[in-house]
Parts: sequence; C-alpha cells; structure tokens
Amino acid sequence: MTIGIVGAGLGGLALARVLHVNGIDAIVYEREPSRDARGQGGMLDLHTETGQRAIHEAGLIDQFRAMARREGQDLRLLEPDGTLLLQEDTPEDAPLDRPEVDRADLRHLLLDSLPEHAVRWGHAFEHAGDGLLHFADGSSTTYDLLVGADGADSRVRALLTDARPTHTGQNVVELGIPEIDRTHPDLAAMVGRGNYWALGNGQSLSAQRNGDGRVRIYLSFYTAEDWFGRSGIPFDDPAAARARLIDLFTGWDARFTALIAACDDTVLPRSITTLPVGLTWPSTPDITLLGDAAHLMPPVGQGANMALLDGALLGLALAAHPDDFPAAVGEYEREMFERTSTAGRQSASVQEILMSPDAGRKMLAFFQPR
Ligand SMILES: Cc1cc2nc3c(=O)[nH]c(=O)nc-3n(C[C@H](O)[C@H](O)[C@H](O)COP(=O)(O)OP(=O)(O)OC[C@H]3O[C@@H](n4cnc5c(N)ncnc54)[C@H](O)[C@@H]3O)c2cc1C
Repeated sequence: MTIGIVGAGLGGLALARVLHVNGIDAIVYEREPSRDARGQGGMLDLHTETGQRAIHEAGLIDQFRAMARREGQDLRLLEPDGTLLLQEDTPEDAPLDRPEVDRADLRHLLLDSLPEHAVRWGHAFEHAGDGLLHFADGSSTTYDLLVGADGADSRVRALLTDARPTHTGQNVVELGIPEIDRTHPDLAAMVGRGNYWALGNGQSLSAQRNGDGRVRIYLSFYTAEDWFGRSGIPFDDPAAARARLIDLFTGWDARFTALIAACDDTVLPRSITTLPVGLTWPSTPDITLLGDAAHLMPPVGQGANMALLDGALLGLALAAHPDDFPAAVGEYEREMFERTSTAGRQSASVQEILMSPDAGRKMLAFFQPR
C-alpha cells in the first residue's frame, strides 16, 4: 500500500515521521527544489497539548526541548501612543508551555529524522486520477492513499470539496531587522526577548525576536482584499516602501516608526485568507487533507500546531489500521473536524478582537486571566 503525501510543510513531515516511527513507508512530494529553496518564516510557539504532543509522537521531544526558546514566551502589549498595557517576562524555571521555536529549525528536525528517499523535491502536484498522481514535470506515480498537506492554496483540496479560502480583511506587510543586538541595541531592548505587539484602530504592529538575532516585524492593515494595489506602497522599491509605511503609521509613537525605519530591504505583502470554520467533506477512502489544506485559519497561533497534530494523529490512525486505510481516514477525519473547528472558532474570535476598535484594551482583557 503506497501513501503519497503532497507537501513537505510541518504537517506533511509530521505524518511521514510518525509513519516512519511505526514502520510504515510514505513518500512526500514537495514542489520546492530543495529544503533551503525558500525562507520558512519566523517563530512558532508550540503548545503542550497540540504541537508538542505531535513532536512527542514523532519521538523528537528531547531534540525539540533542546532547541526551544523558553524566553520567547515573553510578551509586551502596547497602545499606539506607546502606553505599555502588559509586560510578561518568563521566569527561568517557567514550564515549557508555549516555547518559541524557529520554524526552519523545526522543519530541519523533521526532515533529518526521515530517510533521505522519503522526500522527493521538485515534484509539484498537478492532479490525480485512476490511482496516479501527476506532477508538473510530466512524471506520475501510483498511490493507494493521497494526503494533501499542500497548505493554504492546496490543489489536492479540490478533489474533496469546492470550498476555497476567502480574504479575512487583513493585509500584512512583513519587514525585518537583522542582527538587532549589534545594529540597534536600543530597539532590541525595547522589543525584548519574545513578542511585542502594538494594537491600534484598523492597524497593528507586531515584532518578534527570532533565534538568529533577526527581529521580524508584521504590519497589519485591516482593509479590503484589493488594498495593496491602492495603498501606495511601492513594493519594488524597499526604501520608498518603508517611507510610505512610516506615513501610514503617522500619529503612532516615534518608537514604532523607528522600528520600521531600521528594517532591511525585505518588504513582503501577505493577504490573509481563511477557509470556512467547521469545513468538512464526505469521507473518501483514498484521499484526505491535513493542516492548512483542510482548515486554513487566521494566523493567531494555532495553524502550525493543528497541522503538526493532524499529521501525527493521521499517522497513528494508519498505524492502527495498516490494512484498512478507509477506516483510518474516517477515524482521523472525525477527530480532526471536531478539534480544528474548535480551534478555528477560537482563532476567529481572537482575530475579531485584533480587528476591533480599542483592540489593545480588549486584548489586555483577553490575556488578564493568565
Ligand atoms: C504570518 C504568519 C504567521 C503565522 N504564525 C503562526 C504561529 O505563530 N503559530 C502557528 O501555530 N501557526 C502560525 N501560522 C500558521 C502556520 O504557518 C500554518 O498553519 C502552517 O504552516 C500550516 O502547515 P502545513 O503543513 O499545513 O502547510 P505549509 O507549511 O504551508 O506547507 C505546505 C507545503 O506544501 C508545498 N506545496 C504546496 N503546493 C504544492 C504542490 N502543488 N505540490 C507539491 N508541494 C506543494 C509547499 O511548498 C509547502 O512546503 C502563521 C501563518 C502566517 C501566514
């Protein structure tokens, strides 16, 4: 029985690893030409009951704990005028409830734990039919079970449902300051060791320290889908783009615009889309989905955790029913639909807070029970 996994993101790799640990072979088909072909983005906080549980099932929890950054759990929450609403500094002996890990390090950990032949790079999935997977380079291969782990813009998804991601009303520009401790020690001290959020009406700034000393900055604008085209941000001219972004933050405390001014030439626009919360499809014996392909949700801290746990739990279900893939898929989907619709609802309500007027005070009230 051949298991073909499309997508070597965190979810697809967690599945391949849990299958491997249980003595089941699978092949991951990834469109990127190599593991380092594309930057993998910033930090992720892995939660005990979801992302860390998956890493445990993958037999990699000790290696994960060695690379996780406890102090990355620090949080500073501010208002646009610079008022500090909340500061949480993680004690040295705090439990590793939600430690931050560099996404690229986590992906390397999973990739290094698989046999080399388990990932086929440069295989962009195009379509499937008659027991064959077809790739953009014209090649094809057989499968008994196809798992779409191909992310937000999944092509496998269309084999199961007509649902498509829609725009959330959030547009993000990603910027970054390299080696901040050396280049801008004052800004490094201001951002601190973890997450730094300034929430305003209709827009926000978040900064996050990465393991390599870079601070990634995300500027969010709660605007319509076509806003980037109308925003006047010249994405092909980084210096002018930074100047325009500083303009868009007129009226905010000068420390926030200083952060934008200190950034390098990375200026990446991202439109944020989601699938409908609670999306399901009639179970199909030889195809299923996991991660963003199945339940794309707002980026407020659950997506990667859910993708990892989907992969681990599908792997365990297949290991429990090695001769009955349809039973394994049915069991996996029942649990996944329920768990991820709860996570999707929670993420949507956090997103609603972030997009509301007086977001800072509302987020403070959200965090207060902690
Ligand atoms: C700005 C931002 C910040 C985020 N922060 C967090 C956070 O802090 N915590 C958290 O839990 N989540 C976070 N998320 C969400 C998280 O990134 C995703 O939920 C998670 O990466 C989904 O994993 P995945 O394996 O399903 O998909 P992906 O990580 O997207 O992997 C999909 C893989 O499939 C490959 N692929 C795509 N199409 C094809 C094809 N046709 N053929 C072959 N391969 C293909 C892609 O190249 C990719 O390698 C964030 C998201 C964004 C946008």
